[in-house]
Amino acid sequence: MTLWTSDAAARATGGRATRDFVITGVSIDTRTLQPGDLFVALKDVRDGHDFVARALDKGAAAALVSRIPEGVADNAPLLVVPDVLAALGDLGRAGRARMQGRVIAITGSVGKTSTKEMARIALAEQGNIHAAEASYNNHWGVPLTLARMPEDTDFAIIEIGMNHPGEIAPLARLARPHVAMITTVAAAHLEAFGAIEGIAREKGAIFAGLEPAGHAIIPEDLAVTQILRDCADAAGALVIGFGQHGMAKPVKAETVDGATRVRARILGETVDLTLATAGTHFVMNAVGVLAALSAAGADLAAAAKHLADWNPPLGRGAVEDLAGVRLIDDAYNSNPTSLSAGLATLARLTGGRRVAILGDMLELGPEEIAMHAGMAQDPAIAAVDLVHTAGPRMRALHEALPENRRGVHAETAAELAERIGELVATGDIVLVKGSKSSRVSTVVDALRRTR
Ligand code: ATP
Ligand code: MG
Repeated sequence: MTLWTSDAAARATGGRATRDFVITGVSIDTRTLQPGDLFVALKDVRDGHDFVARALDKGAAAALVSRIPEGVADNAPLLVVPDVLAALGDLGRAGRARMQGRVIAITGSVGKTSTKEMARIALAEQGNIHAAEASYNNHWGVPLTLARMPEDTDFAIIEIGMNHPGEIAPLARLARPHVAMITTVAAAHLEAFGAIEGIAREKGAIFAGLEPAGHAIIPEDLAVTQILRDCADAAGALVIGFGQHGMAKPVKAETVDGATRVRARILGETVDLTLATAGTHFVMNAVGVLAALSAAGADLAAAAKHLADWNPPLGRGAVEDLAGVRLIDDAYNSNPTSLSAGLATLARLTGGRRVAILGDMLELGPEEIAMHAGMAQDPAIAAVDLVHTAGPRMRALHEALPENRRGVHAETAAELAERIGELVATGDIVLVKGSKSSRVSTVVDALRRTR
């Protein structure tokens, strides 16, 4: 299906098309490029212009460039602009402008991608749904997702993230959501932001991009909830709180065999749903999602029903049974909030020895060592039988743990992976969690290989 004609793309970006073309997708990576895509020559670690010839060979319908790269014929299908990233933003803005459906934007310190996936799955059978297939939440991910959005989209779900102060508001203004949800505010990226109040204000900046009379969906039970409320009020948003005391709240949640049965009150309506997870943090996310979808005009009962088809995305805490071992693969990311949630999930599972294998949490700032050691005080630790650790920061937790729960400590996750046979026994329930660059995913790989 046509996504952009050369005329429409040139109009959107103010660029010059070297000839007529029609594109059916947008790509920034020749490895995943599909025939018919517009290849966007972004400059990241390498300059995308070096890959234009390859993109055209692979069937790209055109390339978005700021100059004609070497080895590419003058009559090749190109859209030439002064600045490729700015032009991608323009294309995203135009994609958003022509779309008549509802846009739901999601930000938060943790849980953006898993919440986005919940929303996508809950909306099944409610029209054309558009959402990025990955965690595309930054200065190129958000415009890329909007540029890829088909014109006849009924609901778009856009993940918005930040690594630096000031990043959220411009991305929210690009997405112009009707509903903006904050999953939670926690100690992630403290290096760049200092105190948690600053993080809350930064997340609250998402509401600056709301359409008139838009809805703000905010977590009710946080110390910084009032800051989020103030941000929403300042933007003139209609506020819906979710949480134990929210307008959207779980009334009952019961974990049976790794799944959770939930009864929730969403804006005065009672719904029952089943989630394929033992993590109560996901229950809270689900309640927020239902509030967001209801505010966006979706059918609440249908959304609640379809949530049963959701599973945590890869590496975000899905429970799976390997031969003789129950694995919680949470190796994609970690910070004190999500680690606490991960440990609580482990503590709720029964039927075997509970083992946690934990890698470093990164980007926590100057207090990082104390924050690692502090996890020894987490209430769920009391229900964990053995904690193995890897990485220079996790040494602090290793040392802070009571002796009877202290497992093996290694400098790298790879060492733990090599010794997996010693660390895990048949019948164990095993949580593997760490920041991505702690490489605890090697431990997951080792478990999958040996089990
Ligand atoms: P990124 O910034 O890397 O894009 P993200 O915000 O998209 O991350 P996810 O990938 O969905 O977050 O989840 C990251 C981790 O946070 C997972 O371990 C997940 O289980 C956990 N998590 C999800 N929601 C919550 C929550 N409400 N409270 C605590 N932890 C959560
Ligand atoms: Mg994400």
